[in-house]
Amino acid sequence: MNYTIIWDHFLEKIKEKISTLSYETWFKDTSLYSIDNGIYRIIVPMSIHKTHINDKYKDIIDELLSTEDSNYKKVEYFLQDEIQSLKEEEEKQDEILDKKERDSSFDTNLIKKYTFENFVVGNSNRLAHATAVAVAENPGSIYNPLFIYGNSGLGKTHLMHAIGNYIHEHSNKKVLYVTSDKFIEDFVGINRKNNNDNFDVIDIFKDKYRNIDVLIIDDIQFLGGTTQSQQEFFHTFNSLYNSNKQIIISSDRSPDDLKKLEDRLKTRFCWGITVDIQPPNFDLRVAIVKKKIAASIIEKNIPDDVIEYIAFNVSGDVRQLEGSINRLLAYSSMMGGCDITVDLAMDALTDYVSKGSYEKDDIHKIQRIVSEYFKISIDDLKSKKRNYNVAFPRQIAMYLCRTCTDESFPKLGIEFGGKDHSTVIHSCDKIEREIKVNNELSQIIDILKREINSCSKK
Ligand code: ADP
Ligand code: MG
Repeated sequence: MNYTIIWDHFLEKIKEKISTLSYETWFKDTSLYSIDNGIYRIIVPMSIHKTHINDKYKDIIDELLSTEDSNYKKVEYFLQDEIQSLKEEEEKQDEILDKKERDSSFDTNLIKKYTFENFVVGNSNRLAHATAVAVAENPGSIYNPLFIYGNSGLGKTHLMHAIGNYIHEHSNKKVLYVTSDKFIEDFVGINRKNNNDNFDVIDIFKDKYRNIDVLIIDDIQFLGGTTQSQQEFFHTFNSLYNSNKQIIISSDRSPDDLKKLEDRLKTRFCWGITVDIQPPNFDLRVAIVKKKIAASIIEKNIPDDVIEYIAFNVSGDVRQLEGSINRLLAYSSMMGGCDITVDLAMDALTDYVSKGSYEKDDIHKIQRIVSEYFKISIDDLKSKKRNYNVAFPRQIAMYLCRTCTDESFPKLGIEFGGKDHSTVIHSCDKIEREIKVNNELSQIIDILKREINSCSKK
């Protein structure tokens, strides 16, 4: 649109309607800067023009412009330097829009539904969660890299996406989430294409992995197999790290246990902070089940005793907990939307309960709670290992079984891997004596008893 022509045309018209003196004084030196949504922006020489033209000629101007332009709304007046700041403001807005457009076309691979809001926090994941929030709030500064490890199904991937989503929403930083499989696939992809003399793909790979602010790489244990990919990851890591870009890594084991990974990578993984996620205890399982039910689209009242039944019997893995809730809801709707009761849950969840560590009786429950508390396996508890880290928890477990259940010493011996009843008696006596003099131990026993009792409210 040519504003000069439009404005010249207008000036011709208005000239006919007003005196020459008025025209020369008020209109001759005006120009049209822009038309935006029916709003005409006019540049005038002095401030006095603004008020005077508006007071005296508004009606004529409105009439003239609206006959020429059906979209006409009004006229706004500006001085030359006001137009300058208006221009700058418009340029800024354009830049922001451009950037938004660029950002939205960049694929972060983030899964929106994994957020901090729907991540339930308990003792077993509290540190991992707090560290993740700290990284989300200050990417690239305090904890770099962040290394999260723990068994499958405990929320590592969820937490990493939550960090990514948070950063993506609260800043302009470029976030990229990939699994280590995807990293290898991209890397192998460039090599394959290079054999066909396609050198551009190297740049595409580097652009993808180095031109970002936050790299989230999931399940790094799978990188172990391929040496070349490890090397490339090493370079990617260094490049990002050296420019203070945040790196977040997850694995099913600690950096030390990543046997197939080069030492120089493992060393780097420990430069920042390493946090683990443990299996959720009973209370956290209850909280997770409640949260998942609240978030499910099926509006069904699930009584507390059913929730506790699930949390009690499906232990260990959050993915299994989720599966069991979905299964229960589906089962109830298959049965014509009947009420959800413990009996129905027992029928619906036979697979989950038998696959999970189903505790037939209190002894198994106590063994599980003690092993979770001391972070050793139930197999270790039942083993013949005599090192203190295992033998001491075993004695505590035997003592708790004896005091919390009515089981005989021989029965307890059998349940702890076929030990003689005298071993059990000895352990129980020892702990009983020690509690009286060891304050720390007596506190541990109290905590464990509380956990055992809370699980018994079935
Ligand atoms: P991992 O990556 O450790 O194998 P995921 O992050 O994939 O585990 O978690 C498995 C499922 O369990 C996901 O659907 C996740 O949303 C859910 N989950 C795990 N931990 C929690 C938690 N603390 N609160 C809510 N959901 C959780
Ligand atoms: Mg995962």
